[in-house]
Amino acid sequence: MKKVKRPSLEASTVYHTCISDTEDIPLKARYQGNAELVNSASIEYANKAESLDFHKIPNPELLLGLSVKDMKKVYTYRMVQRLGRDYYDEIYQLPKLGLCPYCSLHRVQSIDHYLPKSKFPVYSVTPLNLVGACTDCNDFKKVATPDGTEGYLHPYFDDIEDILWLHAEIIEGEIISVNYYPLQSSEMQDSVFTRLKFQFETLELNEMFAVNAATTLSNIKMEMTDLFESGGAEEIRRNLARSARSRRASNINSWETALYVALSENEWYHSEGFRVKTEPSENHES
Ligand SMILES: [Zn+2]
Repeated sequence: MKKVKRPSLEASTVYHTCISDTEDIPLKARYQGNAELVNSASIEYANKAESLDFHKIPNPELLLGLSVKDMKKVYTYRMVQRLGRDYYDEIYQLPKLGLCPYCSLHRVQSIDHYLPKSKFPVYSVTPLNLVGACTDCNDFKKVATPDGTEGYLHPYFDDIEDILWLHAEIIEGEIISVNYYPLQSSEMQDSVFTRLKFQFETLELNEMFAVNAATTLSNIKMEMTDLFESGGAEEIRRNLARSARSRRASNINSWETALYVALSENEWYHSEGFRVKTEPSENHES
């Protein structure tokens, strides 16, 4: 859910470079015959994406009998392995800290086609359609396409970094756990929230964040015990509130910020919950 700086590459330049060393002359002619289509469709892509109308991005038929497979090869072979490789590397390096913009947890390890190349072959090498992502997100996302009910946030166009949407709740009991969920604020458009929610669910972000939260709860258990001994529940609350403020200042929607906010507001945790196990196997005595 992180915004990424857009690539400044021209779609037509990338396409021409990729197809320029095609040895099969008739195939090269068919590629060249589609150059204007790739260029005009890519310009329209940018226009529609700018107004977040992703479902209105055109999907023109390829010309001259060029197949979907032929277009996919412009990416898989000509861009990844041959003359287009510099462009591939440039796009790969755009996400900040090399972090996947879809999950913000893993390293970028691949390039995702925001509109899948199997459904939208014309955008196989359009820079604005190519986003550095981790392999998990790339796999989970599959061919999800924004159509009003599904689809993902577009890291080059959607910007929700300053809108609070990620929340956590502490599940009280003999074992403590954390549940994460997205919530729509008044500042967020319905269509944006629909995509955010779809992305959150299909990438199983709750499950991934909850694992990290369990590790953190285990890590801070001794610290909380010390705080309780020095100043009781109030001392724990004060410290958690300070931790939450500090994390919020860096990222209002990180799993850590949501965790510390939820912990700082949970009286059960301050008085006894901090002592509770985070998983059944934590007790090695039995
Ligand atoms: Zn990811």
